[in-house]
Amino acid sequence: MTRRILIVEDTPTIAMVQKHIALKSGYQVDIAQSLAETKKLVSSQNYFCAVVDYILPDAPKGEAIPYTVDADIPTIVMTGNIDKQTRETVERFPIIDYITKENKQAYQYLEKQLYRLPRNESVKVLVVDDSAPARRYITSLLARHKYQVYQAKDGIEALTILEQNPAISVIITDNEMPNMRGEELCSEIRRLYSNDEKAIIGISGSDAPYISTVFLKNGANDYLHKPFNSDEFYCRLSQNVDMLEQIATIKRQANTDYLTNLPNRRYFFEESVKSLKCIEKAQQSAAMAMLDIDHFKSINDTYGHDAGDEVLKGLSICFSKYFEKHLVARLGGEEFAVYFNSVHKQDALDRLEGFRKFIELNSPEFSKDKIKFTLSIGFAFAPIYQIDELLKQADLFLYEAKETGRNKIVS
Ligand code: GH3
Ligand code: MG
Ligand code: MG
Ligand code: MG
Repeated sequence: MTRRILIVEDTPTIAMVQKHIALKSGYQVDIAQSLAETKKLVSSQNYFCAVVDYILPDAPKGEAIPYTVDADIPTIVMTGNIDKQTRETVERFPIIDYITKENKQAYQYLEKQLYRLPRNESVKVLVVDDSAPARRYITSLLARHKYQVYQAKDGIEALTILEQNPAISVIITDNEMPNMRGEELCSEIRRLYSNDEKAIIGISGSDAPYISTVFLKNGANDYLHKPFNSDEFYCRLSQNVDMLEQIATIKRQANTDYLTNLPNRRYFFEESVKSLKCIEKAQQSAAMAMLDIDHFKSINDTYGHDAGDEVLKGLSICFSKYFEKHLVARLGGEEFAVYFNSVHKQDALDRLEGFRKFIELNSPEFSKDKIKFTLSIGFAFAPIYQIDELLKQADLFLYEAKETGRNKIVS
């Protein structure tokens, strides 16, 4: 979905810079050079957000700001300088942010905000406070920046909501609450969820000097003292959201094979070991296949290493169609594995046979050189619950498939 942004700016060069930044973040851009043009555009279009210049020829004292704010358009104000009076005017409006144009980092900062805003729509935040007005205030701050908000009136309710909504990634909690104090909630959340998954921001109006330390020692990532200004709130919040996203990216990279984008060996081992524990309890059979390209070395030798890579990538894309519910990984080189999540033996064999045939028929489509190749497959189905043992078993069958003619399944 393309999002539309309104840039209100009378200096053409600045408008062009802002437009460039917005385009880079994937927005469709409209520019208004005056308050009059702003009014016209706001009445005829839906805007995802707006960047509004404080001083315009027909609006010298920030008069354009209420037009976008009242139209429920999240607004970022750009100002030439931020003297006391300007700041007070700007802060009266529920805007997203104000940025001083003279600041060196201004445009970098704007870029960050424009990038962040659409992403916030998928960030889920839980607000825990026994005071309804306090919850409403924080919720309104969050909604302004397009976060998805959940509310709980105490720690007990918070834990239930977290259990029901595992995608909630940030918890903002008060301290003084009936049933469970914020610090207790923190340590309970940390018992259940790791720092990589959820960030906690503690808030309190208490003047006790140790309160921030108590929060942090119980697992909170950050602390805000009430009353706080919205700027500080947004800065701390977005830093925590950024941190969670960076961890998620690093985790994804660590678990993904660089060439094929399939899960890698490490992820495959971690996940299958977890699943094997469950099926051992249920005393079911484990099901695992090893798949290996036949004579891959001669493909490299004949067509070159890049063509070999093309073949690996083409093959990798095809797995999802046959093994959607199951765990597929590139174990290394031209060797792949499928760990089946609760499957009947015959269903697994049918899928593998379907895949083998599909590759035999369609492999020339994967590469410029129309390289045809085939797969040998070893399939183990047994009450074996050690991953190494299971792989060894599948590997023995794979070896047999290679020895007895290739392009086949042995189980
Ligand atoms: P077999 O039918 O017995 O499996 O023979 P094979 O040639 O497929 O197997 P072998 O293990 O002898 O050779 C595998 C080759 O895969 C050797 C290695 O250079 C190549 N290879 C490993 N990783 C990559 C890669 O990422 N890209 C490319 N292009 N080649 C790779
Ligand atoms: Mg201006
Ligand atoms: Mg091979
Ligand atoms: Mg091999």
